[in-house]
Amino acid sequence: MNNVKILFKEDINKFVQICLKEAKVIAPFKTTYGDTIFSPVTSPSEVVIDHGYENSIIPPKEFFLPQEETMLTYGRYKEGYKFKPSLADESKRIIFGIRPCDVSAILFLDRFFRSDIEDIYYLKKRENTALISFCCHEPQETCFCICTDSGPFLTYGFDLQFIDLEDRYFVEIGTPKGEKLIKFNKNLFKDVSVADEKLRQEIVESTKNKFKSARAYFSKTIRKLSEGKVDRNVWDELGQRCFSCGGCSYVCPTCSCFDVADLLRSRDGYSRIRTWDSCMFAGFTKEASGHNPRLEKKDRVCRRYYHKLSYQYVEKNETHGCVGCGRCIVTCLGNINMPVVVEKIRRS
Ligand code: SF4
Ligand code: SF4
Repeated sequence: MNNVKILFKEDINKFVQICLKEAKVIAPFKTTYGDTIFSPVTSPSEVVIDHGYENSIIPPKEFFLPQEETMLTYGRYKEGYKFKPSLADESKRIIFGIRPCDVSAILFLDRFFRSDIEDIYYLKKRENTALISFCCHEPQETCFCICTDSGPFLTYGFDLQFIDLEDRYFVEIGTPKGEKLIKFNKNLFKDVSVADEKLRQEIVESTKNKFKSARAYFSKTIRKLSEGKVDRNVWDELGQRCFSCGGCSYVCPTCSCFDVADLLRSRDGYSRIRTWDSCMFAGFTKEASGHNPRLEKKDRVCRRYYHKLSYQYVEKNETHGCVGCGRCIVTCLGNINMPVVVEKIRRS
C-alpha cells in the first residue's frame, strides 16, 4: 500500500463512524461554554473537525497521564495487608484531530516514561492508542512550533497525518497502526494524483509564512542557561511576576511531574494515587527535614526553564522541552511564557 492517500471531506464522518466501531474515539469537542477540549465522543456529529485551528487548553497528555490515577489499592486484613495493582485501561483508543505539536509532546513523554524504570501505566495506554493528527495551516497567534521543529507538518510520530486540501484531505500513513485504520476503510481512501502532491507542497510552503510568533530563537538562550550566564535580575523579575499557580505546568504538554500519595478511601481500604504536580509549587521540593532548596519563586522559575532548555536535559531528552504550542502564553497571568523568557535571557 502507498503511504499516502486521499480522503474526500464528504467521507470524513463515515471514517469517524468506522473508527468508533474499532475503538474508543477521543476528539476535539466544543463545550457549551465554547471551549475546545479533547473528550471521548460517541458520534461523528460531536467531533469538531474544523475547530477553527484553536487547540484545547488542556493537552491530550491527560489521556496518558491523567490528572489523578489510581496505581494500586490495598487493605488491612487479619492476615496482614493485601495489595491489588490497578492496571491501566487496555481498551483500544484513537485520538482523532490531535495537533502536530501535541504529537511531538507525546514523543517527548514517551522517552521520559520509557527511561529508567518503564512506567506501565503510561506505556500500556500509549501502546493501545492511535494518533490521527490534523496539521494546522492557519496557526494561532500564539503558536511557534515552527521554531521548535515540532509542527505544523510532521515527518514521523503520527499514525495518520491529515493535511487539509480544500475539499479533501491528504492522508499520510506513519505506522502499521495507521495502515490498519486505512485497510479497515479502504473504499473511502483514494489514490493520490500529481495535482494533490503539488497542492500539498504549496500548502506546506505557504503555511511557514503565516506564523506571527516565530520569535523564540532558542540557541543563544540554551547556551547562556547551560553555561550559567543568565543575569540574576532576570530571575528576580520573573519571580516577582509569578503567582505560583502551577498553570504553566498543567497546560504544558511536555510537563510530566507527578506526586504519589496514599489515601484512606474506606475504613480498611487504601488507594495509592498519583496526581499532577508542578515545580512551580513551593511544596514541590520541600524535604522531610523541612528544608526547601527552592523556597523562593525566582528559583522555581529558573529551575523550570533550566529543565526545559539546558544542554543537560536536551542531551538526555534528545530535544528541548518545548513544542511551541503557546499554551503557557495563554495561561500565565504574570506574562511568563516560553517566548518571553527565551527573549529575556537572550538579551540579558
Ligand atoms: S509562571 Fe505563570 S502560570 Fe506558571 S506558576 Fe507562575 S504565574 Fe502561574
Ligand atoms: S513551554 Fe509553553 S509553549 Fe512550550 S510546550 Fe510548554 S506550554 Fe507549550
